[in-house]
Amino acid sequence: MPSKEYDAVVIGAGLVGAAIAYGLVRIGLRVAVLDEGDSVHRPSHGNFGLVWVQGKGVGRPEYARWTLESSERWFDLNASLVEDCGVDPGYRRPGGITPALSEDELCALKTMLERVRSESAAADFEFEILDDARIRTLLPACGPEVVGGAWTAYDGHVDPLRLLRALHASLDLHGARVRSQTKVRAIVPLPGGGFEIAVASGPSASSEDLAGYDPPKGSSLDGGETNKRLQAQRVVIAAGHGSKALGSMVGIEVPVSPEHGQILVTERTASILEYPTLSVRQSDEGSILLGGSKEDRGFDISAPVRTSAEIAARSLRIFPQIAKLRIVRSWGALRVMTPDGFPIYAASDEYAGAFAVACHSGVTLAANHVWQTSRWIERGTIPPEMACFSPRRFESPSSDVSKIA
Ligand SMILES: Cc1cc2nc3c(=O)[nH]c(=O)nc-3n(C[C@H](O)[C@H](O)[C@H](O)COP(=O)(O)OP(=O)(O)OC[C@H]3O[C@@H](n4cnc5c(N)ncnc54)[C@H](O)[C@@H]3O)c2cc1C
Repeated sequence: MPSKEYDAVVIGAGLVGAAIAYGLVRIGLRVAVLDEGDSVHRPSHGNFGLVWVQGKGVGRPEYARWTLESSERWFDLNASLVEDCGVDPGYRRPGGITPALSEDELCALKTMLERVRSESAAADFEFEILDDARIRTLLPACGPEVVGGAWTAYDGHVDPLRLLRALHASLDLHGARVRSQTKVRAIVPLPGGGFEIAVASGPSASSEDLAGYDPPKGSSLDGGETNKRLQAQRVVIAAGHGSKALGSMVGIEVPVSPEHGQILVTERTASILEYPTLSVRQSDEGSILLGGSKEDRGFDISAPVRTSAEIAARSLRIFPQIAKLRIVRSWGALRVMTPDGFPIYAASDEYAGAFAVACHSGVTLAANHVWQTSRWIERGTIPPEMACFSPRRFESPSSDVSKIA
């Protein structure tokens, strides 16, 4: 392979791109990470911070195993980031609890977890259905409406902003070029292999890195509207909602769409929740985060009061004492959803070295993206445990896995 200035360019410095890039620099590749900046909808800055396994992968056992594996690898990821840059994402894995507000909800939880256990052939998949006394032992803050719940051993949480900061700081320390305010306009496969990436860069981009490159004669970048270019042997598209457009430049379909989620944050308080739940958790700094909403609202990221009221109402039914706390922040953000809710790991058939990754659980899967997905990109051969996540599954009429990822 001819040498390029970078072994890999990762497009997108959100949780997915930053985690993959971190894996690549740890392997020893020369990496640039390019990010458009603040003008786009980024879930990496507005998520709930769960590393969540419970209930993941119903109907798709590979996803249950993939998620579980990432949760196991999260300890190494946290330790590695602390060692590299001193920023601690604060991963904790006490196990997670899903409280039920009715016998029907409790029954549905039991059915779901039994299904995950049997489908994934993991007889030792550890979960417990909690009756009303047991859940109050674990979570004394539960209100009278809670009838029980489900606990699994593998769930945990982190501070997602500290995670992002730790990844970026570690990338920097490992010599990766991380450029914000740098929008990728075009990816052009080069004759003989590799890619030319054309960017439009804003005030903070370094001209030293990207300038001075002459595009090959006849390249569509030669004299175009773009103002900077760089070359790489591999290109990794991890651009969240921007991935659809970028993927089409290298023959990869990335069918993602936005799903709106909203989060409320209370003032800090004494520790009252030892375990995270899917929709309420307490941060290590004492704030309580309330979430769990899912709405189809296009690219609207506003945080309407109606949705906040619904989130607060259900949270208070579960943990009534939250009513005493003031809400200090709320926001909306857009999940990167695939048609079946499972992740996409795609390599271009037409252009060797072009990859795309998209998922709605980029916090949970960060450890696998660092340790596993980077290896796939380095070697170019997809490991068996990732092969089922190709977007080709959307071409087949039999790919009717229900939307319960
Ligand atoms: C409300 C909410 C709660 C969530 N809770 C959890 C949770 O508890 N646990 C969990 O695991 N996951 C959770 N998620 C999902 C998680 O946040 C996402 O999976 C993850 O952040 C996706 O990261 P990303 O890097 O793919 O996307 P993004 O964060 O969107 O990053 C993509 C980046 O690509 C850049 N970009 C786009 N186009 C271009 C271009 N042309 N050129 C250069 N750069 C470009 C953008 O600037 C952006 O920074 C939640 C999401 C939401 C919305």
